[in-house]
Amino acid sequence: MRKRIVAGNWKMNLTFEEADELLDELMTELEQASLPRDAQVVVCPPFPFLEMTTDYANDSYFMVGAQNVSEREPGAYTGEVSAEMLKSCDVQFCIVGHSERRAYHGETDALVAAKVNRLLQNGLRPIVCVGEVLAEREEGRQLEVVGRQLSEGLFHLDASQMAGVVVAYEPVWAIGTGKTATPAQAQEIHAHIRSLLASRYGDATAQEVSILYGGSCKPSNAAELFGCADIDGGLIGGASLKAADFMAIVKAL
Ligand code: PEP
Repeated sequence: MRKRIVAGNWKMNLTFEEADELLDELMTELEQASLPRDAQVVVCPPFPFLEMTTDYANDSYFMVGAQNVSEREPGAYTGEVSAEMLKSCDVQFCIVGHSERRAYHGETDALVAAKVNRLLQNGLRPIVCVGEVLAEREEGRQLEVVGRQLSEGLFHLDASQMAGVVVAYEPVWAIGTGKTATPAQAQEIHAHIRSLLASRYGDATAQEVSILYGGSCKPSNAAELFGCADIDGGLIGGASLKAADFMAIVKAL
């Protein structure tokens, strides 16, 4: 059965000392928390803090994700980070297709597909973000947009590969804006994603895939969102930078 997951995306925030302090607080809090057996917590720091984060993770109850990976095999690509490097640093997850990378770094569905392949070839689990921008929602095109992102970014995979992928539905108009999708709006898209997975791969695989909600998720709305049938947890941006807020969201799993 699929896992319930809360993943924290720190984005390009924090200094080394601040990251160290946050990880220390998280480790202490997680030791004391009693989480459901099917719950997983993932912390996705910037690259320079990955090693420190995996050191903490080895003694704690969370797993580590990167925020990006190169679509290329190792070689002469200055400034890039390969899936092999992430694997060798004990990283288990990697965010792909985040709306900020789609908007500012030209990450297309084809690039998402290539990055997903590189991650799966190296035994890492992609967290693939999909979601519509405000204009697309206003035009009522959210189901079509998410369907295209899934089919072009992921549906080249076979069923066993798909079962290793985590999907994050992140309406772009809700990211970092304080505007959260209502539980009904989020559940509608999550159910649609699961039905597309079921049509492409069959019901058993669709039931294996964790589908996370992201977009201004916070302690005050996490429980209601996570209570929806097809919402299996959250991808958390701003609220993952404060241990108390992040832990309150984790406890809503
Ligand atoms: C994100 O960037 O993945 C995100 C969900 O951000 P926030 O929680 O800050 O809206």
